[in-house]
Amino acid sequence: MSSGKCRYIFITGGVVSSLGKGITAASIALLLRQRGYRVTLQKLDPYLNIDPGTMSPYQHGEVYVTDDGTETDLDLGHYERFAGVSCNRNSNYTAGKIYSAVLARERKGGYLGKTVQVIPHVTDEIKKAILSQAAEGIDIAITEVGGTAGDIEGLPFLEALRELGLDLGRENVLYIHLTLIPYLSASRELKTKPSQQSASILRNIGIIPDILICRTERSLEEEHFRKLSLFCNVPLEAVVEEKNVENSIYEVPVELAEQKLDELILDRLGLPRRDLDLADWKDMLERAVKPSGPVVRIGVTGKYMGLRDAYKSIFEAITHGAIACDTSLEIRGIESEDLEEGDTTQLEGLDGILVPGGFGYRGIEGKLMAVRYARENDIPFLGICLGMQCAVIETARHIAGLEGANSSEFAPDSPHPVIHLMEDQKNVTEKGGTMRLGLYPCALEEDSLARSVFGAALVSERHRHRYEFNNDYRDRLREAGLVCSGVSPDGSLVEIVERPDHRWFVACQFHPEFTSTPLRPNPLFRAFIQAARDRKLEISSATE
Ligand code: GLN
Repeated sequence: MSSGKCRYIFITGGVVSSLGKGITAASIALLLRQRGYRVTLQKLDPYLNIDPGTMSPYQHGEVYVTDDGTETDLDLGHYERFAGVSCNRNSNYTAGKIYSAVLARERKGGYLGKTVQVIPHVTDEIKKAILSQAAEGIDIAITEVGGTAGDIEGLPFLEALRELGLDLGRENVLYIHLTLIPYLSASRELKTKPSQQSASILRNIGIIPDILICRTERSLEEEHFRKLSLFCNVPLEAVVEEKNVENSIYEVPVELAEQKLDELILDRLGLPRRDLDLADWKDMLERAVKPSGPVVRIGVTGKYMGLRDAYKSIFEAITHGAIACDTSLEIRGIESEDLEEGDTTQLEGLDGILVPGGFGYRGIEGKLMAVRYARENDIPFLGICLGMQCAVIETARHIAGLEGANSSEFAPDSPHPVIHLMEDQKNVTEKGGTMRLGLYPCALEEDSLARSVFGAALVSERHRHRYEFNNDYRDRLREAGLVCSGVSPDGSLVEIVERPDHRWFVACQFHPEFTSTPLRPNPLFRAFIQAARDRKLEISSATE
């Protein structure tokens, strides 16, 4: 049921980055959706890259891929996982994307005679981007602005938000400022000053927040609420506390509902407080927080293990699998380069091994060791994208006897390029947005493990790669026990391989982590954790 015109919520951040703005935005969206409103979410990133696709995980963490193949900010992963919204190319705009649209129009003569300026031309383009998400029937469009109030590059974005308050009518727009209340352990007190200053930066631009959400490690006292209200010019009842959650990020929406944030938002937007239905979410949370099953230990071998954000969706999807199996989880991040000396101690005691996606040669030999260890020790194995390519190389080298087998990404002169560049990538020269991206169908072979896991003959999953399984080696690898159980519908592209001689060994060219949500885990993660749990129970009953 749509409530007519679309309302807009703008979320800005203050004091520091990494405050969990994306999770807060996603939680708000979930609460509004569960009150029967149709909601969209969008992220604006003030940096100059066109999209994060060309950035290193050190800079940006994971690149999240949407159904339509847009390479986006990882906050969009939270949006889809929490709020069940489907993001697309309109869900993430960077300053680079905005400026390039303005400059392209200038070259075409779109501003003929005028001086092209940040205000109004860049801000108009930003406003157009914000309004682009309000499709037919959307009640509330939420836009999160990346970075922190006061960043120079963020100014045009904040200016656009201010202008929209005028354009759309102040009653249709809600400004939420998420800020940090630091705790100083030396003086044992919470400090409101940085938030006061952050609100004053916004005030200089002409934005007075309607709601102030305060991220804090400790509960705020009456005096803090009063100070924040007075100095930030926000009504007392609109100063909301968001304390760190203890066990799971999926607790955040429930905590915010307890603070009645969703009611406050609806009241301010003049929308009725419809009933909130969080039953399924709370049921899921119960299993996330107090699982009844044993601790399942999953090893993830990558080359950015110190940077958890680099594998955000992978970690989340593993968690979804554990929630679905009602079991406890311990994720062990293993630097693949550490394995290259031949010491596999870190792989001992694992119930499941996952090799995720990646680019470049560094750490590959360690990933191959992890695959080999899983295969030889009958440990459930899930390979994703580069992880699948490693599974293919490992079988080629160690079972099929194809010495020097490799991916042409790492060894262009390999005598056995079992993974090679996709045909339609051969003439690609530009790096940005040119991989095989987004949703593609995959047909699953009858009687395969993949088919039983998905319970369907055809699935669609998201992709982000340039290299593929080399079909010249299909037969030789099948003889070596590696079966292609998922292929593109025309049969030309291998999407899934598996080992029928192993208890659970599946690897896919696509990224199942991007479509996994806590309420609807991707079947591959659910089945992987189930296999790990079964193995664990089997081993513990054998040793009892
Ligand atoms: N580097 C590999 C390719 O481009 C794998 C990509 C990935 O894991 N996302 O095909």
